[in-house]
Amino acid sequence: MAIHDPHGIIVGNIEALYHPTPETLPFWEGCSHGQLWLPQCCECRTVLHPFDSTCSVCLGPTRKWIQASGDGRMITWVIYRRLYNPAFTLPYVVALIALSEGPHIISNLVDCSEATIKAGMPVRIVFDQLTDRIVLPRFRPHSILLEADTYDHSRQIL
Ligand SMILES: [Zn+2]
Repeated sequence: MAIHDPHGIIVGNIEALYHPTPETLPFWEGCSHGQLWLPQCCECRTVLHPFDSTCSVCLGPTRKWIQASGDGRMITWVIYRRLYNPAFTLPYVVALIALSEGPHIISNLVDCSEATIKAGMPVRIVFDQLTDRIVLPRFRPHSILLEADTYDHSRQIL
């Protein structure tokens, strides 16, 4: 689904968010089942993200996939106030998150007011079903999950 600006120019495409390849398919399939799967180096056990054919630590060539916790901590973020893709609602937060397993992931922080975002705050993954086949991993403050699971798991943007 494309989104157009007032002049009819395509400014975003929800399909552009979805790029499965044979190497990354376990990641995307995991998301479709509400799970975060990441590649792990078979030689040094480093958890890697994004997928790379060579381990960034030991240069090992083999991987296995592990189910990650989905927990992490905010490193840094930027708040977008211009819409580039219909999968988002303004304003939205693009965040760099350190996963508990080690690698960093770029995602969105949701269900959090701008004023309460802090570096180091604990976050937990949530999955947004955007289309029949596209599920995006996003993160929300972990403290909300500890208080009560109020996240609307049925929300769909399309
Ligand atoms: Zn390695």
